[in-house]
Amino acid sequence: MILIKNITIITQNAQRQVIKDGAILIEGSKIAEVGQSKKIEKKYAKAKKKIIDGKGKIALPGLINAHTHAAMALLRGYADDLPLKKWLTEKIWPAEAKLKPADIYRGTELACEEMLQSGTTTFNNMYWQPEKEIAAAAKAGLRDFVGLTALDTNGMDIGADRIANLYRQLKPKVNDKIKLTLTPHSIYAVSRETLVWCKKFADENDLLLHIHLAETEGEVDDCQKAHGCRPVEYLEKLGFLGGNVVAAHCCWLTDNEINILAKNKVSVAHCPTSNLKLASGVMPLSKLLKAGVNVCLGADGPSSNNNLDLLEDMKIAALIHKWNEKDPSAASAQTILDLATINGAKALKIDDKIGSIDIGKEADIVIIDFDKRPHLKPCFNPISHLVYAAQGGDVEKVLIGGKVLF
Ligand SMILES: [Zn+2]
Repeated sequence: MILIKNITIITQNAQRQVIKDGAILIEGSKIAEVGQSKKIEKKYAKAKKKIIDGKGKIALPGLINAHTHAAMALLRGYADDLPLKKWLTEKIWPAEAKLKPADIYRGTELACEEMLQSGTTTFNNMYWQPEKEIAAAAKAGLRDFVGLTALDTNGMDIGADRIANLYRQLKPKVNDKIKLTLTPHSIYAVSRETLVWCKKFADENDLLLHIHLAETEGEVDDCQKAHGCRPVEYLEKLGFLGGNVVAAHCCWLTDNEINILAKNKVSVAHCPTSNLKLASGVMPLSKLLKAGVNVCLGADGPSSNNNLDLLEDMKIAALIHKWNEKDPSAASAQTILDLATINGAKALKIDDKIGSIDIGKEADIVIIDFDKRPHLKPCFNPISHLVYAAQGGDVEKVLIGGKVLF
């Protein structure tokens, strides 16, 4: 049993309650109590427990990185200042072709360390060598949605057979923290047949589908030339869209495409830093939210970001939409924090388990010491500080499933 006491709790519960002088009681992997510190301390005065004093500190739910390529930590700073197509085809894909399984392990290990230390407790990943990724994530203790990546154009041949084999091989490794997903890379790197197969296989095996979508204007142009319609319309025609789809980026959407995403209950993983760095475009946040689309937050890979600090991505997300919509009230701090917590959990279909500090949920908790940091003082509103002032390096402690891992 762990008691975190005298702490300000940003619960992210249904009422978005912030509790001052609060306490969180953890039993096993789960949150057993959340409320006023005095009351909970009194109730459990005689219980044997480890105490974490939270004076001057805040607790928030573990952050959820809804779109990333963890092992690309190895390629951080390897290729910068290029547009997506050139960056991918001339630099990244040739470099990735040389990576050995042991490299993927080391890259994922490095990324997990970085994510943990900056408050991310769950990540939705798309990469190769999933068994190496699983080993690194399991060692670090993070929750990992491990993508089985399809790529079967441009001379690559990772299609249905290889994915189905991988799935059978890795299924025994699935547990509370490790989940498998299908990750057809994009509409331009995966054939029509394989996209359709992925959808069928995902539905049959109750898996998430995770794909890059409508990232650049070039992708839209190419799709129109090849298929006579826009990217979201193309996936709708294939019957690919549904509530189990997490679509990353979605920078280039018409109103019709936004309605298609909403109608099909697709979640969108917003990757603001990567989109700005590659000059890909700006996702229409307010329009998507207004249409009822669940929008979550992704860092994307550490070679297009170039870090995995979701606190930084939150700030960048808030800033670009204020400017883009010429409205400082767009993308409020609370809206952006939702993207990085509860909305991520909804996208991954585990909002009954994580995403907020609620009784019965897994104890995935991040603690930041506001008192120790000059840039976090004074504090009128802790949510404002989290989004606009805090940095990943401010994170002091991270618990995942009730275990202190950092
Ligand atoms: Zn990506």
